[in-house]
Amino acid sequence: MPWSRVLGQDRAIDTLSHALESERVAGTYLFHGPSGSGPRAAALAFGQALLCERRGTPTGPAGDACGSCLACTKSARLIHPDLHVTLPFPKTSKQADKDDRPSDYSDRMAALAAEPYASADYRQRAALGSDGASNKQVAHRRIPMEAFRREMSFVPVEGRYVVGVLLEADRIRTEAANALLKLLEEPEARVVLILTAERVENVLPTILSRCQRVRFDPLAPDVLEAALVARAGVPATEAAVVARMADGSFTKALEVWGSESMQAHRALAVQFVREAYTGRPDRIAPVVQSAQKLGRESLKGWLDLVSIWIRDLVLVRAGAVAAVVNVDQTEAVQKFVAALPKADLEAMASVVAQAVDAIEGNAHAGLVLTALAFALRDAMHGVSDGLLVAPLDAA
Ligand SMILES: [Zn+2]
Repeated sequence: MPWSRVLGQDRAIDTLSHALESERVAGTYLFHGPSGSGPRAAALAFGQALLCERRGTPTGPAGDACGSCLACTKSARLIHPDLHVTLPFPKTSKQADKDDRPSDYSDRMAALAAEPYASADYRQRAALGSDGASNKQVAHRRIPMEAFRREMSFVPVEGRYVVGVLLEADRIRTEAANALLKLLEEPEARVVLILTAERVENVLPTILSRCQRVRFDPLAPDVLEAALVARAGVPATEAAVVARMADGSFTKALEVWGSESMQAHRALAVQFVREAYTGRPDRIAPVVQSAQKLGRESLKGWLDLVSIWIRDLVLVRAGAVAAVVNVDQTEAVQKFVAALPKADLEAMASVVAQAVDAIEGNAHAGLVLTALAFALRDAMHGVSDGLLVAPLDAA
């Protein structure tokens, strides 16, 4: 997985590429930053580069993996004998003294090999491939850590290095930290350890003091948007929305896109427009309450979903049905357009944009959404003056 698979993070990649080019590779790294921003993807890419057979040869790259040699192929699939990746996991049985990895451990590794930003860790995902609850009892325990230490003491089988990637290094139990500390205290030139963690302050100080730190920042929405389109096949319009809901994390972006909650958010957006049309406070209030629960950042993304719905109305009215984003809702959109010939779609779009501005300006979400519902009602009945504040004044 060469650097091109890591999103953004030019500064971190520059640092690591230079280390590879000059063969001045530190013994232990800590890649730290928000989960899903890239520490894990970069750790796997760096590990691959370290083991690449062609890197540093006259025909190969200097600061990156070639991506095509046999070593690269094996590293990318996480089956290279000199690459040891370890995830913390929950206790699986009463016998805590065994290296008893959960039965789906290798499935998770395969998921990470296919997409290093995949939501495949045990902490965020109790069961792979579901929206299941997060798992707080995840840790690196003593026995698996000692197994990891043994792996690090092997002579390289194929490559120049033995590479250990210890994911979520802030999850090391105190009793497991000794095994890692022994490794750090007796560094061997051929061993490179890459630790990842969200926050530096959660890593044990004795470990932290021995690491070269590389920081990863939250990813910009435009980076997430482009990656959603290119890597996950998300339609461009929806990618923009999902990117805004992802808090700088591509893992979260993939999660939002794949989740039922995305569908639920879309359904709530449609329901909001429908109830707004009735103009009945008793029907508008529950929808406003549900939307308010999303929190400020997600709420902006959710309002984008409302905008997309309105844009679909415009498209259908203009006869451009094929361009509709909510393809599964085409029939509903067509019915709406047919039933409301007087609706001022431009005014509808404009009051939603004003609501986004108001939310960004820290206005009270409940008030903004309620005012928006009544402004939408007026616009749908063709009596709008296009101003979000009008219903508030009238009340
Ligand atoms: Zn290679």
